[in-house]
Amino acid sequence: MGVIFVTHDLSVAAQIADKVAVMYAGRIVEYGSVRDVLMRPSHPYTRGLLASTIHGGRSRDAEVMAIPGSPPDMRRLPPGCSFALRCGYADRECTASVPAATPIAAAHTAACFKAGHLSGVVPQHRPWPGWPGEPRGDGER
Ligand code: SF4
Repeated sequence: MGVIFVTHDLSVAAQIADKVAVMYAGRIVEYGSVRDVLMRPSHPYTRGLLASTIHGGRSRDAEVMAIPGSPPDMRRLPPGCSFALRCGYADRECTASVPAATPIAAAHTAACFKAGHLSGVVPQHRPWPGWPGEPRGDGER
């Protein structure tokens, strides 16, 4: 039996799920095991969600990041990638066509033209203590 749990908080998904599907504007934009998606977030929206996670280990003065802009009107989706108006990586390619799911690794995909590049760039944020992407000190992540 499978259970689908819907949340905006990836730290909750990390604790209870095996696989995660990140959705934006009605489409799955990143999919994979919790560990793969959190260790190698390859879609800018996934990265934004992780950077905006609030956790108990964050200092009171720490800035909480927010994804700029607002979700699109689902009745009039913009051409190309629906995240383009909020994405710091967007360029002309992004508004020309809808990005297909790109394989990052076995059973890990991201629907982004820059996914191959972003998957190799380690996020600069540390979403919460003990997250599955936390370096273990033995070289493993
Ligand atoms: S396809 Fe372009 S606009 Fe969409 S998430 Fe990727 S870089 Fe951003």
